[in-house]
Amino acid sequence: MKDFFKSVRRHIGKLDADHLREQYARLSDEAVSLDTLFMTIAQGIIVLDEHGAIVKSNPAARDLLGMDPSDALDALALPLGKASKRDMDVTYPEKRTLEIQTVPMDQGTLAYLRDVTAERERTEEELRAGATRAVRDLAAGVAHEIGNPLNALSLNLQLLKRTLPEDAGIDECIKQVERLDRILKGFLQALRPSKPNLAPGSVAEPVKNCLAVMKPQFEQRSISVTLDLPGALPPVAIDKEQMEQVFFNLVKNSLEATRDGGRIDIAMSSDDNDVIVKVRDDGLGMDPEQVAHLFEPYRTTKSHGTGLGLMISSRIVRDHGGTIAVESRPGEGTSFTIRLPRLERRIRALN
Ligand code: ADP
Ligand code: MG
Repeated sequence: MKDFFKSVRRHIGKLDADHLREQYARLSDEAVSLDTLFMTIAQGIIVLDEHGAIVKSNPAARDLLGMDPSDALDALALPLGKASKRDMDVTYPEKRTLEIQTVPMDQGTLAYLRDVTAERERTEEELRAGATRAVRDLAAGVAHEIGNPLNALSLNLQLLKRTLPEDAGIDECIKQVERLDRILKGFLQALRPSKPNLAPGSVAEPVKNCLAVMKPQFEQRSISVTLDLPGALPPVAIDKEQMEQVFFNLVKNSLEATRDGGRIDIAMSSDDNDVIVKVRDDGLGMDPEQVAHLFEPYRTTKSHGTGLGLMISSRIVRDHGGTIAVESRPGEGTSFTIRLPRLERRIRALN
């Protein structure tokens, strides 16, 4: 449709009155049907100009937010001119989870709101509930049965490698076995998420551990990594091992998206409610379509990817009572923001 309008614009000087009338009729029909869609669709839509001011919004946006979108702008903190996606909990008029996505347009930004309360609850329930449990256990059983011979295969290949000539193709076999092993491990983890073992602690520790483990990889590829860590960070309820895995997944993705000599910045901070960790890279970035499907399982753009890292990470963050958000622009980079509720807030919420 964009192309059609562009071509009409280009030729408008040459169109005669009949043609113009025809195009006008076509446009007005289109505008009326789009307006009907805009006014009646269950998803909330907010259109922002390039300065972040609201150009228009539909009734569903108002209903979902429980207030006029212009009064919610601060809380929404919509990134301008970027594709982004995150969940937000609203408490009024009732407790609900909204998924908020933005899509950059030629001039301005389109924000798209969806009530995902039922969807999120369903996923959680399905993971726990009985009906799927049998299937899960079976799948996990089979996965384990594959894991053992895979281990044996790997060991024997290593032994063979020592005795066979280099061009015998053993390296490729080893690589493929390692790949199977990776997929299997991710799959097992996705099937059986263990509940986090929460204890009061600092989020700085798992971040630092993760960076220490990955340091050789940064050095090898001349990637500069900065860590912005304020002196005192409020405590959170945290399973350090699981959160370390989250940061590992994020930083690994950043590494894979960044060219040699690129940079990754990690910044920690806190506000009244949350402790916030931002992981930002200046790598490939993602287009809006990719962002829209992020956190869904098996979505990968890598030949050796599993597409499970972000799904597992977002589940871990949610099990911590937190949220994970993403912002990205193709060619410019990506930033992930994790928010974990401050310990005092959790305690207050329980009372
Ligand atoms: P995998 O890394 O195995 O592909 P993930 O769930 O970790 O699975 O990531 C899913 C997809 O999201 C990746 O294949 C990639 O396309 C995209 N992605 C994730 N993080 C980034 C990033 N920092 N920069 C660019 N693309 C990313
Ligand atoms: Mg990954």
